[in-house]
Amino acid sequence: MATLTVDPLVSRRTADFVTQAHRIFIDGRFVESASGKTFPVYNPATGDVITHVPEAEAEDVNRAVLAARRAFDEGPWPRILPSERGRLLWRLADLVEKHLDEFAEIESVDNGKPYSVARVADVPLTVDMFRYMAGWATKISGTTLPLSAGYDFHSYTMREPIGVVGQIIPWNFPLLMAAWKIAPALACGCTLVLKLAEQTPLSGLRLAQLIAEAGFPPGVANVLTGFGEGAGAPLAAHDLVDKIAFTGSTEVGRLIVHAAAGNLKKVSLELGGKSPAIVFPDAKLDEAIAGTASAIFFNQGQCCCAGSRLYAHEKIFDQVVEGVSRAAAEIKMAPGLDPSCQMGPLVSDEQYRKVVGYIESGIAEGAHVAAGGPISGVERGYFVRPTVLTNTNSNMKVVQEEIFGPVVCAVPFGDEDVERIVKRANDTVFGLAASVWTQNISLAHKVARGLRAGTVWVNCHNVFDASLPFGGYKQSGWGREMGAEVLHNYTEVKAVTVAL
Ligand code: NAP
Ligand code: MG
Repeated sequence: MATLTVDPLVSRRTADFVTQAHRIFIDGRFVESASGKTFPVYNPATGDVITHVPEAEAEDVNRAVLAARRAFDEGPWPRILPSERGRLLWRLADLVEKHLDEFAEIESVDNGKPYSVARVADVPLTVDMFRYMAGWATKISGTTLPLSAGYDFHSYTMREPIGVVGQIIPWNFPLLMAAWKIAPALACGCTLVLKLAEQTPLSGLRLAQLIAEAGFPPGVANVLTGFGEGAGAPLAAHDLVDKIAFTGSTEVGRLIVHAAAGNLKKVSLELGGKSPAIVFPDAKLDEAIAGTASAIFFNQGQCCCAGSRLYAHEKIFDQVVEGVSRAAAEIKMAPGLDPSCQMGPLVSDEQYRKVVGYIESGIAEGAHVAAGGPISGVERGYFVRPTVLTNTNSNMKVVQEEIFGPVVCAVPFGDEDVERIVKRANDTVFGLAASVWTQNISLAHKVARGLRAGTVWVNCHNVFDASLPFGGYKQSGWGREMGAEVLHNYTEVKAVTVAL
């Protein structure tokens, strides 16, 4: 049925994959949902339906959890050598890398993001994540401990897989978010059920095919498409799930915590943000302007760590606002597969309406539009112009709430002491990330120390690496993804004491 118009610019191979009859991945097999129901998938650049995917519900979740349970309790997974887990993860990395162009195309038609960006960011970071965690599979260990109780004991700890993990991801980096979840869970020896975001199910389904091809035993990794309430909620509440790992909105994060209360499963959360970018007057202005513009406009502003509050010293404020506004005005908006595209559409009609609604609310509350605004001028697709707002204050919704679109609020500060600037930057319920722009090394470190955020970038923003822990203070989440820290998310520690 490759006549469904996926996108005129997409390759034949990707069009064939997109339009195929999709199945969910349970116990090593691709199967229909129990109900046989499906739901549509849209191309955000056109608003057209490009395919349908199964709508998994509680019964499918249950089947997937039971398969993961068997694979963990009885299957080959608990007995498999760590080196073999590492080898499988490395093989999966190779397979994703081999299909780099195809994944970039899928991400672009499904999420809207520029193909060129998916090709250099989403997909390579996914490959890195699988390789990095492949290395950890053989290095998960405990310690030996001298006891105050005396010499007649020998004590040590061991790190064991937590068990069956439920994982729920959002739509902003569909493939990469899947990798952030799957790679560490499998490296640690867990089995998993992953629910993809309803808006962007396609790259995860392609990844499931590669999981099968890589040779992971049946039931170790199960992948579902479905809605939050229909599939996510029963997964979060399931009594046979030992841990739930969630990335998405703070609002749904709270629901996850409630759902997990039944069997007190472990929970890790990677939630929203309202990250500050702070530019001091001694910063290299060209770099600070380019950097803070990309901090907010990268991925159409749909980043949990987007630099959505721009604080600039009053001496350079006008220059910074002008520079970021010029950058905004010069960004070429186009469908993601158009070679000229620098910014694609937002992911969905719902997100489009939400972001435009925020811009309008900011204007109604008195903000000035230095660039962009609520009208995109593009006829089709969910395009929102990169927007710079000034004359905002900390009571406005646009300053307090996560917009998750290409909208930045620029605010000047004066010759205040560092503590006051840091206090303003910290004046939000979130604490995910921040960036500081200055040539003064001592000032940079002072500000970094004062910020209540899981990530601080100095003279850069949005730098990610599989080796760096990522996660939030305050209402931005619980736990850390990536780096060695993520091993805590997927392991239990056992203390063993022997009387000698
Ligand atoms: P969301 O509702 O939090 O969705 C994230 C994931 O949770 C999706 O897979 C979603 O399913 C699922 N979900 C929804 N309700 C659930 C429930 N009751 N139980 C279990 N799982 C549930 O986020 P969104 O609707 O995609 O976006 C809304 C806002 O969240 C955005 O505007 C943005 O502010 C924020 N957000 C933050 C991040 C981040 O990385 N921190 C990422 C995405 C969005 P569906 O597939 O049905 O949506
Ligand atoms: Mg939702």
